[in-house]
Amino acid sequence: MRPCYVCHQRGIGNESVVYLRTYRLALCGRHLKEWIERRTREAIAEFGLIEPDDRMLVAVSGGKDSLALWWILSEIGYEADGLFIDLGIPGFSERSRALCQRMAERLGRELFVVAVDEFAGETIADVAGRTRKVCALCGKYKRRAMNEFARMHGYTSIATGHHLLDEAGSLLYNLVNWSTKFLKGFGPKKQRTDELPAKIKPFVKVLPQAIKALCEHYGIEYQKERCPYSKGAKTPLYEDFLTKLDELSPGLIHRFYFQGLKLIGGELNLRDGEDEG
Ligand code: SF4
Repeated sequence: MRPCYVCHQRGIGNESVVYLRTYRLALCGRHLKEWIERRTREAIAEFGLIEPDDRMLVAVSGGKDSLALWWILSEIGYEADGLFIDLGIPGFSERSRALCQRMAERLGRELFVVAVDEFAGETIADVAGRTRKVCALCGKYKRRAMNEFARMHGYTSIATGHHLLDEAGSLLYNLVNWSTKFLKGFGPKKQRTDELPAKIKPFVKVLPQAIKALCEHYGIEYQKERCPYSKGAKTPLYEDFLTKLDELSPGLIHRFYFQGLKLIGGELNLRDGEDEG
């Protein structure tokens, strides 16, 4: 392993736990955490993600991204409760929920659990039995459950663990398909309305490799199984493609996403249309 860049600058010989090729940066556990915290704070400030009067939920799935986000938000001083949507996928949902519960105990925060069939009248396992469009319906049901729960319990903002590669992959997928509906709402924040909570993505400046190393170094246990219905998902192909390009041209993922954000929010004026909430 390479020496930690920050420690090395200070004449200390600590080894790194991760090498972030995109930034040509090797970091030890402590400096990785500080780096992620700094990028999270920057995203919150730059995009106005959190208002002073916000009551925030973190939507946790049991995966590394949402659990790490909940922890990091707490470490940088934001109080948030967790919301787990139980999709009703036998075995997988129970194990995911237990991991979220463990993080709630670590943080001393509340974890709320909502069963998707309470809102949709069917579980995701039921959906998989009747259609191949499982992910599209799952996404719709999760959004409905989150919005309803937040509205009923007075939460004004929902943070999700989407990171830079997730966002860049979605952008590429939707550009290839010229989805103007997606592009109109594209960005790390959807503003809150009287009816709907804000949706925010504080990890928009963080890549998954850094999150994974953080979880491993700080003992955050997370769901390593993939959802049994994830095989048909298309965006991972776009994420893999961007990752390969980034290996050839470090920083490409960052440039693609943030230049896209500037262009779409500015010169192309796509945001002049209606927001879907
Ligand atoms: Fe839902 Fe598809 Fe994600 Fe599984 S992979 S949790 S079905 S969106």
